[in-house]
Amino acid sequence: MPHPRRATALAALERMQSPLGHFIAGKSEAGAGPTFPVTEPATGNVLGHASDATEFELNAAVAAAKAAFPAWAATSGDKRKAILHRIADLIEARAEEIAAVECLDAGQCWRFMSKAAIRGAENFRFFADRAPGAADGQALPTSEHLNYTTRVPIGPVAVITPWNTPFMLSTWKIAPALAAGCTVVHKPAEWSPYSARLLAEIASEAGLPAGVFNAVNGLGETTGKRLTEHKDIKAIAFVGESKTGSAIMKQGADTLKRVHFELGGKNPVIVFDDADLERALDAVVFMIYSLNGQRCTSSSRVLIQASIYDQFIEKLAARVRNLKVGDPFDPVTEVGPLIHPRHQAKVLSYMDIARADGATIAAGGEAIAGGGYFVQPTLFAGADQSMRIAREEIFGPVLTAMAFTDEADAIAKANDVEYGLAGYVWTNDVGRALRVSDALEAGMIWVNSENVRHLPTPFGGVKASGIGRDGGDWSFDFYMETKNVALARGHHKMQRLGA
Ligand code: NAD
Repeated sequence: MPHPRRATALAALERMQSPLGHFIAGKSEAGAGPTFPVTEPATGNVLGHASDATEFELNAAVAAAKAAFPAWAATSGDKRKAILHRIADLIEARAEEIAAVECLDAGQCWRFMSKAAIRGAENFRFFADRAPGAADGQALPTSEHLNYTTRVPIGPVAVITPWNTPFMLSTWKIAPALAAGCTVVHKPAEWSPYSARLLAEIASEAGLPAGVFNAVNGLGETTGKRLTEHKDIKAIAFVGESKTGSAIMKQGADTLKRVHFELGGKNPVIVFDDADLERALDAVVFMIYSLNGQRCTSSSRVLIQASIYDQFIEKLAARVRNLKVGDPFDPVTEVGPLIHPRHQAKVLSYMDIARADGATIAAGGEAIAGGGYFVQPTLFAGADQSMRIAREEIFGPVLTAMAFTDEADAIAKANDVEYGLAGYVWTNDVGRALRVSDALEAGMIWVNSENVRHLPTPFGGVKASGIGRDGGDWSFDFYMETKNVALARGHHKMQRLGA
């Protein structure tokens, strides 16, 4: 018996155009390009089709963003603030529907998505409140000049997002861009395009002027590529895989695009033997198995001090075997399906890789039959840093465990990957917490905590995990240009050439 919230999600899709086209200059536009199917991860059923934008349609979306830019950039911060708060109000009013759509087309579990939709509204409120001060700069006076800085919005920007938590993630980018006075062309991921349409409808209903926010559907290699190459797009905010980031950097090179990249991770969680092991266990399980393991900040490698390794692994394996896998709409479900059969096949390929490299599969290790793209929550034990399961981003409910001897060994193993997004440290020794946090090569460290996002703090990675930071004023630095004005006091000495 399907959960009633599934009907809510299907009704939302029913109201949308089919195939799903684009939202350009405040209007829903049918797509004339080729279509692609969108499947339901939990069942494998085709939910509908979406259009890959033609070059003409993509150009129309960018032209709409360009035309709307001068007026939106000149709109007062207070007015932008009011509109963004209205968007947040409408997100809250439709939070159930948004969360249900995410469960349906992204296969994410209700228990997490119900909060993610509300987080989307919070993102809008946070940046709404900062809109009036977005242009603020510094006074840098000298005896001869008053220098002051101010910030101006950079122009129309592209926002390109992945499929793991599509709605919430896109609001992290779109809310600060709009608060800064930029106009936006958003391209959501082709495997989960529906919630982006809800955001476009909401923004329009909230009174955002036509053209300020546009959404185009399509594939990465066609629509995404054209968008990043377009001369009128001034900056690209991208969330996705590291290799896509590198392609986008090349695509944007000819037009000198400013880029902000939030990319992959292979984040370590280091558990020292003096830690609160029950809390550490809760955090380790939560950070890799929530969101179906499709989470950039997942702690996908657990490094356990050798003195507690066996005992910790035993408890961990028991918890992993006990996870409730099932219908994403059911509030008790803890792990849902993977997004797509291609992604499921990729995640499953690591089971053989683990065996071949000599790790043991302490829990899980198989697909779950019966339709849908489910994989058993899996724990690889006895790994070491030479193995692919310890180095590559798997992006599923799959955790790689290994032992370490001491602080130096933990740091060396933690840093021995290409990525550097997040790191988690569990210890009750404050000095050690500080030393390890300093030594970890990552953009974000949590000590004795799972990932808890505080919006004023910087979010982003180092190494192959990204370029730039989101959050607080860092977002405005990306979406705005800093300008310096030097005003002479009128008495400084000037050279008089040709006098
Ligand atoms: P992806 O890179 O395959 O796709 C992301 C988006 O880029 C999609 O919209 C896609 O259509 C588009 N795209 C693909 N090729 C493109 C191209 N050549 N030009 C322009 N656009 C293109 O990523 P994914 O598989 O959708 O998402 C999973 C990845 O996202 C993981 O690596 C994960 O770690 C990462 N991620 C990172 C963060 C973070 O904050 N660091 C957050 C969430 C996800």
